Amino acid sequence: MSVTQQQVLERLAKVASPHGAALTDAKVLSDIAVNDGKVFFSINVDAAEARAWESVRSEAEKAVRAIPGVTTAMVALTAERKAGAASPAAPHRHGTQGVPHVSTHRPPQQPASASPMSKQAEIPGISAVIAVASGKGGVGKSTTALNLALGLRDLGLRVGLLDADIYGPSVPRLTGLRDKPQLNAGRKMIPLQRFGLAIMSIGFLVEEETAMIWRGPMVMSAITQMLRDVAWGTLDILVVDMPPGTGDAQLTLAQNVPLKGAVIISTPQDLSLIDARRGLAMFKKVNVPVLGIVENMSYFQCPQCGTRSDIFGHGGARHEAERLGVPFLGEIPLHMSIRATSDSGTPLVESEPDGPHAAIYRAIGARVREQLHDAIAAA
Ligand code: ADP
Repeated sequence: MSVTQQQVLERLAKVASPHGAALTDAKVLSDIAVNDGKVFFSINVDAAEARAWESVRSEAEKAVRAIPGVTTAMVALTAERKAGAASPAAPHRHGTQGVPHVSTHRPPQQPASASPMSKQAEIPGISAVIAVASGKGGVGKSTTALNLALGLRDLGLRVGLLDADIYGPSVPRLTGLRDKPQLNAGRKMIPLQRFGLAIMSIGFLVEEETAMIWRGPMVMSAITQMLRDVAWGTLDILVVDMPPGTGDAQLTLAQNVPLKGAVIISTPQDLSLIDARRGLAMFKKVNVPVLGIVENMSYFQCPQCGTRSDIFGHGGARHEAERLGVPFLGEIPLHMSIRATSDSGTPLVESEPDGPHAAIYRAIGARVREQLHDAIAAA
């Protein structure tokens, strides 16, 4: 029997808000998304009252989970700060001094009190979480994130991949994975395994169109849960495929995920480099070290004769990296086999491990590993 929105509302009507009114009458509920036994919504309250609402959030989650047929319930508590009001959050706790305007929404499930969900909270079992980001879509971010993860795997590391590109989760397409993750005895989602990687994508949980209409707080809630409510096991590196762009959603994400570093993907075109620069600035704002820039679709290599042509005026990203004083991690050519293998669910590093392109991804992986040496060695 499929779960309905009405059933969810009936249960929530029995949960009391801090002022005594029923939760459904408190004018704090977002839209309720119900999809194949999975229920997502957020409770949006004033930041000053966030602490009092945390128990309501967990009560609401419990109530929804108790509905027969519900397999997952994600309820986010988001605290909106009134314009001009002093921030109740001690900036040093989140390490976000100097970050303008992004914090109109408190991270989900993070009440005003110090919380283990704060940026500094590492994820048990994972030595380093890194972001793969791009200033705009279509530059090959997801393709690079997956092949980089495989390159790191080839270096002998235990690697996971989290597809946080909520607006267009491409990991199901890139890996051919379509299964729904199961829950373990502790009700944590078990990541899917493929190519020796632990993989999680919002695309495994909901249809792409559903994710696209989510509002900011729900996006953050889903990503936070994918990070923390997944039984990742022991990993040296978790690669997070970020949503493209440098808007508030990305900044909030960069702020709330305990990142050890970020890799920026850019194509050689000027516009993309401008966007990449924005990406650099974004990570700088939230004190996440930029591990370096990768130039994707850097040059064209003729599949027949192997001749290389710099059709896009390649080298822009290397130059830019030098100018900005961040490492340049490598250049990946525009090549049919990179496109064909990623579009058919058998990424290149897996399907052509001995080819020249797999070697490039491994070399980029080695540079990334070098920079994460301390974090990985400390595990
Ligand atoms: P993004 O995540 O930045 O939106 P994708 O990784 O989905 O980008 O890549 C966009 C398209 O470009 C895909 O069809 C992918 O196969 C292709 N692509 C990515 N990198 C390369 C490359 N180096 N050579 C050829 N095609 C590529």
